[in-house]
This record gives sequence, C-alpha cells and structure tokens, in this order.
Amino acid sequence: MPGTTPLGYLAAMRILVLGAGFGGLEVTTRLSEEFGDDVEVVLIDQNDDFVFGFSKLDVMFGRHIPSAVRHPYRDLVKPGVRFVQSTVRSIDPVVKRVDTDAGAFEADILVVALGADLHPDATPGLVEGGHEFYTVAGAFALREVLASFEGGRVIVAVTSVPFKCPPAPSETALLMHDFLTDRGLREGSEIALVMPLPVPIPPSPAASKALLVAFAERGIDWHPGRLVSGLDPARKVAVLSDGNDMPYDLFLGVPVHRAPVVVEQSGLTVDGWIPVNPLTLETSFPGVFSVGDVTSVGTPKAGVFAEGQAAVAADGIGALVSGISSSTQYDGHGMCYLEFGEDEVARVDVTFRSGQNPTGDMEGPSSALAADKVKFGADRIQRWFGRSWPAPPTA
Ligand SMILES: Cc1cc2nc3c(=O)[nH]c(=O)nc-3n(C[C@H](O)[C@H](O)[C@H](O)COP(=O)(O)OP(=O)(O)OC[C@H]3O[C@@H](n4cnc5c(N)ncnc54)[C@H](O)[C@@H]3O)c2cc1C
Repeated sequence: MPGTTPLGYLAAMRILVLGAGFGGLEVTTRLSEEFGDDVEVVLIDQNDDFVFGFSKLDVMFGRHIPSAVRHPYRDLVKPGVRFVQSTVRSIDPVVKRVDTDAGAFEADILVVALGADLHPDATPGLVEGGHEFYTVAGAFALREVLASFEGGRVIVAVTSVPFKCPPAPSETALLMHDFLTDRGLREGSEIALVMPLPVPIPPSPAASKALLVAFAERGIDWHPGRLVSGLDPARKVAVLSDGNDMPYDLFLGVPVHRAPVVVEQSGLTVDGWIPVNPLTLETSFPGVFSVGDVTSVGTPKAGVFAEGQAAVAADGIGALVSGISSSTQYDGHGMCYLEFGEDEVARVDVTFRSGQNPTGDMEGPSSALAADKVKFGADRIQRWFGRSWPAPPTA
C-alpha cells in the first residue's frame, strides 16, 4: 500500500530514473504506486513533454494537431516522484552518480531508460534532400510538407538497423496511400517501401502476409532485404545498399539509431547498446537497471517492450527496497497496434524469448481495434500523467 512501508530507513532510498519515455514513465509510476513517499524517485528528461511514437504519424498525416499529442511533464505529479527537466551529461554506473545541467545526482539505484538517439545527418544527403519521420521535429515538420505535396514518386525507407517500431515504415506507406487517395493524387503517384527485413514483421507470418496483400492491393512497391545508404539530392535519387538507384520526389526516411552519447561514454554499452540480464533487466553494474530502446535485450525497440521491461525492473527495485527477493521475470511479450489505413488497425502479439524463435499472431484489422488503440494511449496517459486523453478532434 502506498506510503505504508514499515521500515523507516527506506525513506533514504534514492532511485534515479534517466529518461521519461515509455520505459522511464512506467518504472516511475510503478514505484510511486508501490512505495509512495517512502522512496525518493527523481525522474530526469531533457524534454518538457512526452509524445507517443504513433502520434508522430497522426500529426504528420494531419489527423491531429501537434499540441493535442504533447503530454507536458508538469502534469506528472506523483507521491515520492520529482521530475527534473535537464540534460544528462555523464553517468558513473559504479558509484551511481549522474551529472546534469541542473547539477549532480547521487542514487542508491539507477535506471537508464534513455532510448535511442536518431542521426539523420549520418545518412549522406538525407538532411539536404529528404525528410525523416522518426523524431518529433521531423514528423511534425512533415505535416506542412505533405499538405503541399502535389504527388509523385514517394519512397518510405529504412537507412540502418536496428530501428525502432519495425511496423512503422509499413504503416507509413499504407497511410500515405490513403493520404494521396483522399487528395486525388494517388493515380499520379508511386509509393515504394524499402525495408531491410525479408518480410514486414518477421515474427508474425500472419501480419506479414496481411501487409503484403495490402501493399499489393494498393499498388505499394515492396523492396525487402535492403536499405537506403544515401540520397543524391541533385539527381533526386536514393542509393540503395544493393547499389541500385531509385528516383524520388518525396523521401521519408527512418534515420540511423544509436545509444545516446552519454550512455556510450558511461562504459555501460557493449557493441553500441546496454546489455542486460534478459530476465531481470539488471546491467552488469550492481543496482543499475536498464530498460527499453537503449538496451540490447533482444526484443524489438518499441514502447510496449520498454513498458514490459519497466514493470519487471520496478519489481526488482521494489525487492531491493523491501529487502526481499523478486521472482518476476521478463517474458519478452509485447502487443502492438498496426495502422492498416482506411481507419482500421490490427493487433499483433509477439513474444521474444532468449534462445527461442520469436512467435506472433495477428487480429484484425478492424475499426474496433482502432478504438482499442485509442484506449491504449488514453490508459497510459491516465496512469502516467493523471489526466484524460485524447485529444480534441483533428485540425
Ligand atoms: C513513427 C513511430 C511510431 C511508433 N509507434 C509505436 C507503437 O505504435 N507502439 C510502440 O510500442 N512503439 C512505437 N514506437 C516506438 C517507441 O516510440 C519507442 O520504442 C519507445 O518510445 C521506447 O521507449 P524508451 O523508454 O526506451 O525510450 P524513449 O521513449 O525514446 O525515451 C527516452 C527518453 O530519454 C530522454 N533522453 C535521451 N537522452 C537524454 C539525455 N542525455 N538527457 C536527458 N534526457 C535524455 C529523451 O528525451 C526521451 O524522452 C514508434 C516509434 C516511432 C518513431
């Protein structure tokens, strides 16, 4: 029960959560629900608001205005939790000390949930000659770009692996089809989807098959097993990893992902990402947990997996706080909603277990699942920020 931990000394337990994205918000919420004011949780993020990944597509395609999908951290008022808006500059996982622009913080337990940084400038020509739709700024800017697009050759492409939310490029191609159709521009346009994967969603044959059928029905050209390695803005061509050129009028790219520099410099990473115990989310440093996109835990980089990992990390931290052992283990399960266009959404359930082939099922697409997706977002905003969402009607 919140606020009733019997051991007085626990009031001194300091938990520092770095990153207030999907993972950081979930771990913080769970700790507050379990311990209330009996522990001191400091949550640090450089931004002043949270935006769901899927809201980027909603804004870009004109389904919501930007302000309707921003969730200010000032609304995050929870027992035992203090939010600090600041940039983390260094992390010492041995002594669990963190330097930020707002000063230094020392902790008994550290949670690193800093996500993946995005680097459009790492792909030659992308900044000069194309657009990316994975950052908040990039996706929101595309709203105006798309509104004035008069049709032509559209490429949706991935530029490197790993990349978060593997279904998002497929969703973008399908939503682009609707967008152009609604504006009477589809006949004079082409849509190509360039993906490094052999099928759209490898762990779910059913979802992959349904997507390939949807692409074929809509005339979306599917180019599996390759990346776009650069753009030549002067010639308006994308250069593919197989050496071929693909002409474009509008290029929408998934930029290069890397762990934040501050994480790379901390000594926490191996091969670019933070290795963790896949069952407990503990790093190799005692008292240091890590969840979400910044890890190499073996699941795709997606919010639903970050959230599941956060729940397990919160249980592990709770056990340390209470001096008991935790039996909760991460099961590698995640469920994501998949935009199919025409206001229909499918639900894909996938499980990634270490040493086993991933498995996945699909339900839908349907308008009922589109309503479920709205509820999914609303539930999280209610839990994390204590207010109702969504958002007012579209602009
Ligand atoms: C277009 C798109 C659609 C998506 N759709 C879905 C979907 O439908 N379902 C789904 O599950 N996932 C989806 N995702 C993926 C999802 O957004 C991410 O996988 C998820 O947010 C990862 O959670 P996280 O907590 O690991 O990291 P994030 O949510 O990225 O949070 C990391 C936080 O750390 C902060 N940070 C980073 N560096 C610093 C620093 N030095 N100092 C201070 N703060 C810092 C950042 O500001 C950020 O708030 C989508 C992503 C995109 C781009």
